[in-house]
Amino acid sequence: MRRWLSLASCLLLVAWLSQAVLAQGTGGGVTVYVVQRGDTLALIAERYGITFEDIARINGLANPNSIDVGDRLLIPLTGETYPRVHFVQAGETLDAIAALYGVTIEDLKALNQLDEAGTIFVGLALVIGSASPSEPVAVAEAPADAGTAGSGPVVMHSVARGETLFRIAQSYGVTMNSIVQANMLSNPEVIYPGQMLIIPGVEAPQLAAGLPALISSFNVTPLSLMQGRTGEFWLQANAPVSVTGAFLDQPLQFAVEGDGLVNVALIGVPQDTPPGIYPVSVIVSDSAGGQYPISANVQVNAGDYDEGGTIRVTGDASVLLNQAVEQQEEDLVTGLMSRFTAGQAFSGAFGLPAAATITSGFGSTRTYTGGVQRVHTGTDFGAAPGSPVMAAASGQVVMVDNLNIRGLATIIDHGRGVYTGYWHQSEAYVSPGDYVQQGQVIGAVGSSGRVSGPHLHWELWVNGIPVDPMQWVVQGFY
Ligand SMILES: [Zn+2]
Repeated sequence: MRRWLSLASCLLLVAWLSQAVLAQGTGGGVTVYVVQRGDTLALIAERYGITFEDIARINGLANPNSIDVGDRLLIPLTGETYPRVHFVQAGETLDAIAALYGVTIEDLKALNQLDEAGTIFVGLALVIGSASPSEPVAVAEAPADAGTAGSGPVVMHSVARGETLFRIAQSYGVTMNSIVQANMLSNPEVIYPGQMLIIPGVEAPQLAAGLPALISSFNVTPLSLMQGRTGEFWLQANAPVSVTGAFLDQPLQFAVEGDGLVNVALIGVPQDTPPGIYPVSVIVSDSAGGQYPISANVQVNAGDYDEGGTIRVTGDASVLLNQAVEQQEEDLVTGLMSRFTAGQAFSGAFGLPAAATITSGFGSTRTYTGGVQRVHTGTDFGAAPGSPVMAAASGQVVMVDNLNIRGLATIIDHGRGVYTGYWHQSEAYVSPGDYVQQGQVIGAVGSSGRVSGPHLHWELWVNGIPVDPMQWVVQGFY
């Protein structure tokens, strides 16, 4: 768990605090503890006179043995008051937050053990101080136009490893069905670590963003991004604007939504991005030629990616593991899957590309015969040879080709910089230029290219970056 205090932890804290308040009328205070060399959870717990199970639970630690030097832990204290927590939103500064709550910057720095410069980032839970039980605890704000839970602010919950929807619903005192509806989940059984869930029906936050008058909101969703996953930047203006920007050295491609006042950019976070805090900067231009720069710090958390084991390649290794062959093919695919088409052919969650079990997930590092290591940039489905390959979403076919490594490969452009790829097929039933519908059979599972057996390898690219496609199956994006 090499990261700052996670959003999940804070939301669990909010949940725990609300329950404590409901149950007893008062709750406990809280402090932030930064893990030092030689610390164990048991030692920290002993120092504060609480159980390590409590610390693990409040901080959402799946494994209480995995704390690292520098981790920030919430420590509940006993007392007559409970803490006020503010989740940092895009556009907020420490000055503005201090002013909003009537506290000093120095107090905020000390209370939250911030660095000298007072560095904050989107999604960081700042302990503001204590509040009387009648005042609401501040919670995270969902994008106003997410269209999933009305326009009111709601609590977001980041799913921890091993959590079930039932347990999450229980911990917030809401029904499973309300979470299913708010998040448009097609299958409540399928949630994954790091997934952000909207928890309907919790108190509103206060916002300290000092945005130009033209801009009504600037949001990042989810508040904490993850290696190898997709996120979105939302900018809402009071008049039509054009928006450009950059994040993680990639230009942001904003598309205009709805009434023309909402600008949304999808972002693929490269799987090898070191966890940390990164700036996003955008420039908003109005029709009169005025330009308004906005920036914010955004956190990228580590993904949970496995070792992929050893793959014994069948076929001619001099071709299949040849660097020049691989690079040439990579350039071809990257070129095709990095273009931006403004229209959006997809809507809602993507379908599965094959009716089969997943045999290998996205992001694992595999070793091929001969010692060559590669990160797995897609999800494998262990379907029988000849079984149907289906378009995961509607779009236009931009490539059907027989490649050395990817075998018989099909690429579909879904618009807004989103592409899917289907590798190792035995047959393809579509041609470049064809428009396909979600669920349409486009080919058959095979074992062409660099494989150890028949399967479908499925990729999803966002803005030129391969990301975990399964996120798109459980969650719809705008
Ligand atoms: Zn694969």
